Formats: sequence, C-alpha cells, structure tokens
Amino acid sequence: MKYKMEKPIQGSIGTAKYQCHIEWRNGTIISDEPVSSGGQDTGPDPFTLLLSSLASCTLITLRMYIDRKGWDIPSIIVNTNLYQETKDEKLVTIMDRDILFTTPVPDEQKQRLQEIAKACPVSKILEADIKVRTFVFRDGDSKQVKYANEEATVLWKPELCQHSTRCWTQLPLVFNPRIKKWINPDGAPADRIDQQVKVCPSGALEFYYNKDKKTNHE
Ligand code: SF4
Repeated sequence: MKYKMEKPIQGSIGTAKYQCHIEWRNGTIISDEPVSSGGQDTGPDPFTLLLSSLASCTLITLRMYIDRKGWDIPSIIVNTNLYQETKDEKLVTIMDRDILFTTPVPDEQKQRLQEIAKACPVSKILEADIKVRTFVFRDGDSKQVKYANEEATVLWKPELCQHSTRCWTQLPLVFNPRIKKWINPDGAPADRIDQQVKVCPSGALEFYYNKDKKTNHE
C-alpha cells in the first residue's frame, strides 16, 4: 500500500469562522464557507474544491490526450456541478460535467474525448468504491520505547499510536506488529526509516541519528 501523496494534505482551522488553511506540497490554499453559511467567502468551499478537482483532472487528461494525438484543439472548458437527492432513504449525489470546445471539433474526436474524460483519474475515484477512514490523534508527552542500532534510533510512544497501519503496511521489514520487539532499525536504510517516521500521522514515532543526539548533548 502506497499513498498517492508523499506528504498528506494538511488542513487546519482556528476560531475564525470558517477559514481553513490547506497546505499542499507547494503552498497554501484558503478554504471557507460563503457568507450565507456564516463564513467570510475568502476561499472556495469544500463542495467547490471537490468539483474543481473533477474539472481540473478532466482538463489535464484531455489536454494530455489531445497533445499526444496532435489534434488541433487550442482550448477546452469544463463546467462541473452537482445536486443531491434522497432515493429509498439513501442520499444520492449526481455530478454533471459539461465539456465545451471553443473551436469546431469533428464528431468522432468529440466522442473519443468524452470517453477519455470519463476515464480521468478523479472520475475513476468518484465512481468507484470509496471509503473514508477517520483516526483521531492527540498531542502530548507519553512514555517512549526505544529501538536503536549503531547508526540511528526510533522512538515509539505507544499512548499516541492509533494503529493507523501506515508504518507496517508501507515498511514491513522495519515495522512488524506481530512480534514483540516490533521495530527493527536494521530492516532498512536509516534514511528510508526516517522518511517513514515522518508520515506517521499521530506523532507516535520519532527518528534521530545517534551522532546528532550526541552532538546536541555536548
Ligand atoms: S504510523 Fe504511527 S500511528 Fe500508525 S501504526 Fe505506525 S506508529 Fe502507530
């Protein structure tokens, strides 16, 4: 199992209604609610972000395909919107995507591009089985268990560990919950372990090179 994102998308909110800071790999996006819902409308609301994801994925996928084919289609517009209705006591969401070409495009190309749009990665996610797993974490000090070799040390704080499975599904040669001494620092190069520790979402893991720790204490 490998996450799509090297670093998770991190959102945070304070007490200001309802501005959220969404950190992505190269910057920050502000998300908010419209004034009618009690926000300040300083950024797109969550539904808008979801629809933007479908629009941009469609556009990028179409552009890649058109360029590969060498077709003369200089610009594409995609409109996305959604509505929801309850059917048999189940909430059903319908998303509509309209693709517009600003110059004439032959019918067979339009038909092919409609199929390509349906197969864009975000469409596939939205139309497949999706599960959202939710873990709750907290900050704070707790007892630590140390796993070290000559080069490096991994600290594990059991009270913070929320068994998200990330470490042992992504680096099973180091993290193996089936055995008592469950972290083996000899199982992978130190920099790979460091990288894995960084994606522990709960703060239950810490990594350091032993030489750095010595230096810090000198
Ligand atoms: S990634 Fe962190 S929270 Fe998840 S199981 Fe490993 S130590 Fe626990």
